[in-house]
Amino acid sequence: MIKSFRGGVHPNGNKVYTSDKSIEIAPVPDKVIIPVRQHIGAPASPLVEKGDEVKKGQLIAASGGFISSNIHASISGKVIDVGNYPHPTFGVCTAIVIENDGKDEWIEGIPTTRNFEDLNESDILEIIKENGVVGMGGATFPTHVKLSPPKDKKIDVFILNAAECEPYLTADHRAMIEYQDKITTGVKIVMKILKPEKCYIGIENNKPDSIKSMKQTFSDISNVQVVSLPTKYPQGAEKMLIKVLTGREVPSGGLPADVGVVVQNVGTLIAISDAVERGIPLIQRITTVSGGAINSPKNLLVRIGTSFSDAINFCGGFSKDPVKIIMGGPMMGFAESNLDIPIIKGVSGILALTKNEVNSGRESPCIRCGRCIQACPMGLNPSMLSILGQNDLYKEAKDEYNLLDCVECGSCVYSCPAKRNIVQYIKYSKAKNAEEAKILNNKISAKEADTKGVEAKTSVEK
Ligand code: SF4
Ligand code: SF4
Repeated sequence: MIKSFRGGVHPNGNKVYTSDKSIEIAPVPDKVIIPVRQHIGAPASPLVEKGDEVKKGQLIAASGGFISSNIHASISGKVIDVGNYPHPTFGVCTAIVIENDGKDEWIEGIPTTRNFEDLNESDILEIIKENGVVGMGGATFPTHVKLSPPKDKKIDVFILNAAECEPYLTADHRAMIEYQDKITTGVKIVMKILKPEKCYIGIENNKPDSIKSMKQTFSDISNVQVVSLPTKYPQGAEKMLIKVLTGREVPSGGLPADVGVVVQNVGTLIAISDAVERGIPLIQRITTVSGGAINSPKNLLVRIGTSFSDAINFCGGFSKDPVKIIMGGPMMGFAESNLDIPIIKGVSGILALTKNEVNSGRESPCIRCGRCIQACPMGLNPSMLSILGQNDLYKEAKDEYNLLDCVECGSCVYSCPAKRNIVQYIKYSKAKNAEEAKILNNKISAKEADTKGVEAKTSVEK
């Protein structure tokens, strides 16, 4: 029997908007804005200049370090600018703007046809790295790094995270019904690299058609087990999923590899399959455009760099005035104020929510009801973490209240009757501690750290 994790919440799923909608290919836009930061780690370095002609799939920005990722052109056309543009998570970022030439021409050599079984593990890892594959559940950690655990960490379990526990989002749900071949190939490629004894595919039980599809798809692979999970948020958080499926607990400050596990998301496996067997870089993704203010919500296969407004217009535009636009899901996503921002590799959804769908209201002081403590899946005291962050006592939050264990799932905020911005205070405290650690390492000046701390507080308060 499947065990549950402690805490968690049951928000309204609101997946009915798009759960039965087949994935549609979004039109190639007139222009794409492709930021050089679309992943965790160092930004990529532009390789093209204004005026250059580029082809689809061409490398246009090179990985900037060990933890970084390549960036490729998602359309063919002319580079009309390399400069600062609004970014969904970083405020403003260097981006390469390409004007569509209407030809949609691939760079020579793509697509190709390969069989992963003819490649060795290091060749496969190099292909994944070259093609800019990153975690597509939102975390955007470079996949080649995640698939290269330290030699002393024996990986015996691979988990395909197909929980998709965020409300509204159905991109992975539909992919499991429509892209089984690519998911199967992706699983086999990851298993060839990691050689785990077991693979679990964890899917919340609010997606019975996906569970059926995956069970059929993997019925002849004995060490792959499709597991139906209770629908409870944040079932898809890595630590919760590992606990539920294996009984193992990732230690505080540790990584899944510390307990012999690697987790990948559905979209990432599709990108791995495209890269390894077709030579296609990560230039498109499946994203859900949904919410009560969208005329015709859809699951879209959309080119990286397409603007939020182009994607929303393809869904019929707004039927009502949205009171909130979110990148990602409503629990962990980012509120956005500008629809000219581009869809980047980590954009699992674009939500346009009406007043009835938003838990709005002014923040008030904590009434010590304890609901956030009951909801926290990490066993933290969110109330105290919020108060400490609010009062700049971020060191105490880290040293005495395990700040760094917070997975920023938002369960505490969801359950708080005082509408406290708990996660914002937590992000602020984490940013301040991180900057102080850098100062200790003499990496940046105290003045710069102070400015960054202010920026972090501002960004989490938007
Ligand atoms: S404190 Fe962190 S881990 Fe706990 S519920 Fe809040 S956001 Fe989630
Ligand atoms: S749920 Fe909100 S009001 Fe209740 S203890 Fe937590 S922070 Fe305070």
